[in-house]
Amino acid sequence: MHQVLFTVAMVALVLALVRFAQTVQRITTVVRMGQADGTRSADRGTRWVTLLRESLGHTRMLQWTPIGIAHWFVFVGFGALLGTLITAFGQLRSPEWVIPVIGDWGPYNAFTDFIGTATLVGIIVLMAIRASRRPSQLGRRSRFFGSTMWQAYYVEWTIFVIGVCVLTLRGLEGAYLHVDGWTYEHMFSYPLVVLLSGLSATTLEWAIAGVAFVKIAASLAWFFVIAWQPTMGVAWHRFLAFVNIWFKRNADGRPALGPLQPVRTNGVAVDFEDPADDAIFGVGAIEEMTWKDLLDVTTCTECGRCQSQCPAWNTGKPLSPKLVITALRDHAWAKAPYVLAAEADRGALPEGVRAEAAKSLVGDVIDPDVLWSCTTCGACVQQCPVDIEHIDHIVDMRRQQVMVDTAFPSELNGMFKNMEVKGNPWGMNASARTSWISEVDFPVRVFGAEGEETIPDDVEWLFWVGCAGAFEDRARKTTKAVAELLHLAGVQFMVLGDGETCTGDAARRAGNEFLYVMQAQQNIELLNTIGVRKIITTCPHCMNSLGREYPQLGGNYEVVHHTQVLSALVAAGAIRPLTPIDTSITYHDPCYLGRHNQVFLPPRDLLAALPGAEVREMERSQSTSFCCGAGGSRMWMEEKLGTRINEERAKQALATGAATVAVACPFCNVMLSDAMTSADVGAPEGTRVAELSTLLLESVRPA
Ligand code: SF4
Ligand code: SF4
Repeated sequence: MHQVLFTVAMVALVLALVRFAQTVQRITTVVRMGQADGTRSADRGTRWVTLLRESLGHTRMLQWTPIGIAHWFVFVGFGALLGTLITAFGQLRSPEWVIPVIGDWGPYNAFTDFIGTATLVGIIVLMAIRASRRPSQLGRRSRFFGSTMWQAYYVEWTIFVIGVCVLTLRGLEGAYLHVDGWTYEHMFSYPLVVLLSGLSATTLEWAIAGVAFVKIAASLAWFFVIAWQPTMGVAWHRFLAFVNIWFKRNADGRPALGPLQPVRTNGVAVDFEDPADDAIFGVGAIEEMTWKDLLDVTTCTECGRCQSQCPAWNTGKPLSPKLVITALRDHAWAKAPYVLAAEADRGALPEGVRAEAAKSLVGDVIDPDVLWSCTTCGACVQQCPVDIEHIDHIVDMRRQQVMVDTAFPSELNGMFKNMEVKGNPWGMNASARTSWISEVDFPVRVFGAEGEETIPDDVEWLFWVGCAGAFEDRARKTTKAVAELLHLAGVQFMVLGDGETCTGDAARRAGNEFLYVMQAQQNIELLNTIGVRKIITTCPHCMNSLGREYPQLGGNYEVVHHTQVLSALVAAGAIRPLTPIDTSITYHDPCYLGRHNQVFLPPRDLLAALPGAEVREMERSQSTSFCCGAGGSRMWMEEKLGTRINEERAKQALATGAATVAVACPFCNVMLSDAMTSADVGAPEGTRVAELSTLLLESVRPA
């Protein structure tokens, strides 16, 4: 009988490995139907370090600490308990069988005992968490809403059964070998040893073989099931996550935030002045995604972390980053036979495959309302434990919609036209860019006013005012406050005046890469010609474009946000905030300053320096900050679906009880100020939204 069990197990093992290998090959084939992307393998050494840090250190998972810890043990158990599977095969033939060399070694047995128990506890914690967040109970508020629940349950129960088997075998082995006192080798399984010690040797022998068989059956069944379901990310991420992390956009481990990627065809940036005949402008069909994009979507675990953080999803809009990724994945896999077939053979493909191939990517697979709901806030990218790059996928589809199909929300027409004709989204005349200077009582140096052809040597910073900073009323206050503070601190700065034009950020995030490139090239030509090296901006979007995106087009500058410069000046004693502010303040992290560019502390240092200010943090702050609703060019679109994102954020700010909401971005300023006037928000009388530099200036000026 032992031999029969062993033979059955060995045959099943061979079949499982064959099926597994076939599915790995299928996954590879589907992923490779994507476009080339040669940007993913530079800095190999750094990539290995990142992979080790993110996998063994679980740095992404541990953003949610208890789940991260539980998952770490399950992750380690998956690899570390391989020895128990090998042992189980041997135990089908002999209850005393152990792995040669290490099987009798005390530390190995102690390790197995510990990891086996920790894996079991870990999976129970994860199962309990999933059970408490069931979509059937919580609806859209569940991060698992829309996830394929049976797959997750199956994976969890498999691990649970295997964990129980490992511990039971440890108990049976101890009883069979007459372990008669607690030892570190049976640190957790000893109670089972005691419990099972009364059984006869024959019973123990059969029990060991039986439990070993169950363990093998559960393990091999898992291989058969995942081979049958190649899109079962909750299982396949155990293999694919390593690959996806290694090939992530930033070799050093930073998530895919900050700059967008240039429009590329076969891995080469498209030259908009002379595009190649086969140039692809964004993604309009699944096969126009790169192989890395297809790997991304196949790796999704459907954990829903991204969905839980998404401001669009949390305000009732149809966009869920998770459901975008899974929709792309399902379409990719369903259409793959068509894409991979020779043209002559496509007509003979099954009707379902041809129907899938006939679907439009935006329209049938991804609803346009989903596509245009994204604020590119980056909360999804920040949270994803397997480094999926949602924003890049969304913007790639927007690019195709705008540049090829000319299909986009009509409100964007005005913004595009204004930027094209007037060089700013508001459609104001360039001459008005300097009007704020006539409203201040200190000198502001304007480039060219005294015939300069390059930035003078005594000028340390170019102050990039930005379109909002020049034309929008609240942002103009910030511009004047920053200029005054720099002036008071004796910092030599200059502005470009009417030579400044929009960075193109809003056009780029709306998918109009052509317009963005035109704007950016114009700016870079000027900045390079006049020798600009260091730039201060008040707008995080300008900061991101100038500092992180312009290098893609040959513009390399040191770009900082005004809160960074001002906090350094306060720390150096060049600016002295002495007048008490006497208010409670909460600070709203702008997405493009915080998450996208990791500037979290300087704004907080400024607040800490204000005498009398009592600072209160919102529940969602720093890397988990909640968008104001203006990013991703949403500033220029109407918000017709769900509730308003800015009002949701205003409510979160008011929940702290703070009387003042400090902001550090002109768009956040507009969005949150508007929200405070809404009856739905119910802001108490006197609540104000104030930009950090204006608060600092209040404190610097005498009472
Ligand atoms: S970037 Fe922000 S708005 Fe867009 S899908 Fe991600 S979380 Fe949602
Ligand atoms: S995209 Fe990432 S965070 Fe979102 S469900 Fe998939 S694995 Fe989880």
